[in-house]
Amino acid sequence: MIRQHIALISVHGDPAIEIGKEEAGGQNVYVRNVGEALARIGWHVDMFTRKASPDDPTIVEHQPRCRTIRLKAGPEEFVPRDRIFGYTGEFLDNLIKFQETEGIRYSLVHTNYWISSWVGMEWKKRTSIPQLHTYHSLGAIKYKSVEAIPMIANTRLDIEKTVLETAERIIATSPQEKEHLRSLVSTKGNIDIIPCGTDIHRFGSMNRCKARELLGLKPEDKIVFYIGRFDKRKGIETIVRGVARSVLRGNPHLKLIIGGGSRPGQSDGIERERIEGIVAELGMTDFTTFPGRISDELLPAYYTAADVCVVPSHYEPFGLVAIEAMACGTPVVASDVGGLQFTVVSEETGLLTPPKDEVAFGQAIDRILTNPEWRNKLGEAGRRIVESKFSWDGVAYQLSDLYTALIPKREKVLMEVGG
Ligand code: UDP
Repeated sequence: MIRQHIALISVHGDPAIEIGKEEAGGQNVYVRNVGEALARIGWHVDMFTRKASPDDPTIVEHQPRCRTIRLKAGPEEFVPRDRIFGYTGEFLDNLIKFQETEGIRYSLVHTNYWISSWVGMEWKKRTSIPQLHTYHSLGAIKYKSVEAIPMIANTRLDIEKTVLETAERIIATSPQEKEHLRSLVSTKGNIDIIPCGTDIHRFGSMNRCKARELLGLKPEDKIVFYIGRFDKRKGIETIVRGVARSVLRGNPHLKLIIGGGSRPGQSDGIERERIEGIVAELGMTDFTTFPGRISDELLPAYYTAADVCVVPSHYEPFGLVAIEAMACGTPVVASDVGGLQFTVVSEETGLLTPPKDEVAFGQAIDRILTNPEWRNKLGEAGRRIVESKFSWDGVAYQLSDLYTALIPKREKVLMEVGG
């Protein structure tokens, strides 16, 4: 049984927060599930994040050997991620204080997103702790598509390059992400590919009729489902415009469900309002619903009930939503980009179409909605692929082997003799 203490750092993505709130998304899900799965196989996992509310407890025990620790770094309120970097020095100081007070010696640090990678690199300068890093998003790709490049851009690009070249290992979550790191960031540094995962028990154990009954949807409904953050780069507009052109337009059973949390006046709230405006302008309000944040309990039902799940992102390094839908036996129509090219097998588990192409999205959705038998075949194949390649337990075993290989030998001996 492994007994080492390891630190996962996710400064802006709190693993203990409710997903779908405060811009929480894939990174929060990844850190929490990786942490919990690693703890199940024996690691002592501490997941460090920034305290973003005085009401949030400082320590959350998720299960034996796995906890979230919220460190003070700047005001105890929501701070947009581009402004968090200024508080990382305080975060590091409090991390080191915590370690000293608790008397823990961490054998390895796994950082998430560029902000945390800086904390890991600085920590490493003081303790020579081995560092692994997962990007979750890449500045070199993001800044190609945004209208206004933020002030922080150069700092981010520099840090993303340095961590690639200096970390003991980079975890790319798809071969496409590895390729982008090599072509856009640096040819130096060590990269392994270990995908993201999903809970194959939680997603995929519900029957479709039951799911529809639970959600008040009819057996004959034709349901197109989106779930995720409200962010322009998620491409929700493409789906709305694509569904507006559907051959089923006018059929009373066509339904578009756009799920995900947002806060009025904040960036996600503004994007939701913009999308609602397009829905109204295209005369789609009578068959489009915005259920808001979908609870953990109901999310599997939504995926299962849907005829097709859409992931129209402009870019995704991985894209958890695609494998969650596939785990529930639902085909995915996704943008032909990044990690979606790795998870969605076009014509086998769904369809890939060019990003931002509303005509192509509309046609792909129609192909699936108008052929229920094929729809079920695609769904079954998706489930099989997720079971074989994308379970959190499988991911945790791969990470665990890598951690073990990277922890210096001296440390392992000390641990074994109880030092
Ligand atoms: N999610 C959720 N409820 C919501 C919105 C999102 O549970 O209301 C989850 C979704 O199930 C997925 C994650 O947030 O696990 C989004 O991850 P993805 O990699 O697709 O996108 P990211 O947020 O990383 O851009």
